[in-house]
Amino acid sequence: MVVPLTMDVYKTLREEAFEANLEIKRRNLAIYTWGNASAFDPDKGVFAIKPSGVEYDELTPKNMVLVDLEGKVIDGKLKPSSDTKTHLVLYRKFMGIYGVTHTHSPYAVAWAQAGKPVPVFGTTHADHCAYEIPCTAFMNPEEVKNNYELETGNLIVNTFKNSSLDYSQITMTLVAGHGPFTWGNSAAQSVCHSVILEEICKMALFTVMIEPGAKPLPDHIIRKHWERKHGPDAYYGQKQL
Ligand SMILES: [Zn+2]
Repeated sequence: MVVPLTMDVYKTLREEAFEANLEIKRRNLAIYTWGNASAFDPDKGVFAIKPSGVEYDELTPKNMVLVDLEGKVIDGKLKPSSDTKTHLVLYRKFMGIYGVTHTHSPYAVAWAQAGKPVPVFGTTHADHCAYEIPCTAFMNPEEVKNNYELETGNLIVNTFKNSSLDYSQITMTLVAGHGPFTWGNSAAQSVCHSVILEEICKMALFTVMIEPGAKPLPDHIIRKHWERKHGPDAYYGQKQL
């Protein structure tokens, strides 16, 4: 596919990626350069992603790096995020997503380091996801040695595939020993899902601290909370005029 190098064509995409990366910082999901977000344009087969190792204060829409689905940088003077290949795999395999965010936010990382999925302990979780948040297996030596970031993406995709999980219903995951990856129908929404995941992980941690044997919320309450926001007869929020 020939991609035109006209800057204006990617203006919106760069701005979306830039805004999403700033939101990571605004929401306290990352310190220093820990974290990255990208925005994907499926028609062009291109995504804009944070440059590697650049502090959030130094980001501009212009220094977002444009990458195609083969991993080739099509525009940008800086190196793209070291996690670029993970984003790439998610865009290739999770059709219909337009944004990906990765952070090292501490509560989500704590669950990832414990290698534990996050049970649906309460309605805060059920409002946003009716299922436990999956945690992948730890990566094996071959995966780490060969193409670490690409294999991280494959690990996420295979975790969903092998357990028949629906990535459009569960828009977040934990990579064991590493941290959270989230996605959405825009770069902005993918960051929003990272914010929600961090809050869910915080509440879940306090729950097991108070009661190590805490049980997940009964299914009928989970369904009620999910469906009143996302079901066919959803009634949460204001009616669209
Ligand atoms: Zn990371």
